[in-house]
Amino acid sequence: MVLAAINKGMDYFGFSAHAPVPFNDNFALQKEDVNKYLTETERLKEKYKDHIQLFTSMEFDYITDIMEDVNKQAKDYGLDYIIASVHMVKEKSSKLMWFIDGSKQEIYDKQLQEVFDGDIRRGVETFYDQTIRMINNVRPDIVGHLDKIKMHNKDRYFKQTESWYIDLVMETLYAIKENDCICELNTRGLYKGRSDDFFPSTQWIKAAAEMNLKMTVSTDCHNATEVDSLFDKAIEILKESGHKYVWYFDGQWKAEKLT
Ligand SMILES: [Zn+2]
Repeated sequence: MVLAAINKGMDYFGFSAHAPVPFNDNFALQKEDVNKYLTETERLKEKYKDHIQLFTSMEFDYITDIMEDVNKQAKDYGLDYIIASVHMVKEKSSKLMWFIDGSKQEIYDKQLQEVFDGDIRRGVETFYDQTIRMINNVRPDIVGHLDKIKMHNKDRYFKQTESWYIDLVMETLYAIKENDCICELNTRGLYKGRSDDFFPSTQWIKAAAEMNLKMTVSTDCHNATEVDSLFDKAIEILKESGHKYVWYFDGQWKAEKLT
């Protein structure tokens, strides 16, 4: 990853492994591997310091009842910044979770039935309610892929132009603004062919520009060939949508003027 970033001429690069969750999934760091992760990223920072500035972060999953105290965990790890996102949608007092990410649409469909009795509106409202509580409670540096719920939907259960849906996303954007977080423009869904637009969709990138919301660009890469996938296109979309700045981290969050 580091060598790929150096090869692409990057000045800064942040690692953001999925933070541990208190149950088994197949993508988060195991709790017992956290120290290895922190030690290894420190080693790389030092080793490549003349070529690139590296940062250690994690992407925290915010899950109702299960993972709400994100800041306490983050503080223990001493990270440079944090990303918080929702991948698992859960109603209070329920034991079931709806996994809305990953590569399989069948899981999205199956768990929508199991967890929300197929009621898409209840599921989507729970997703955004969880996201807004995450923003208000955690106030992360970066809010990750805020409309990932649309990825496996593919216009089947709901359309992004429905007024109830628009209200939920707008409420989320306001929460980001109010808490002075940075909204992630995430290119992964598009370059993986899982989504036909960025996270968030272009219409929300435009709305964010009108609200003067801070945005940063992330590839959410899971291997070295993806470190800058669709970066240029993301910057173009920001500009076309009316954003004057893109935010980046060099030890502090800063705005770079888009020209
Ligand atoms: Zn994520």
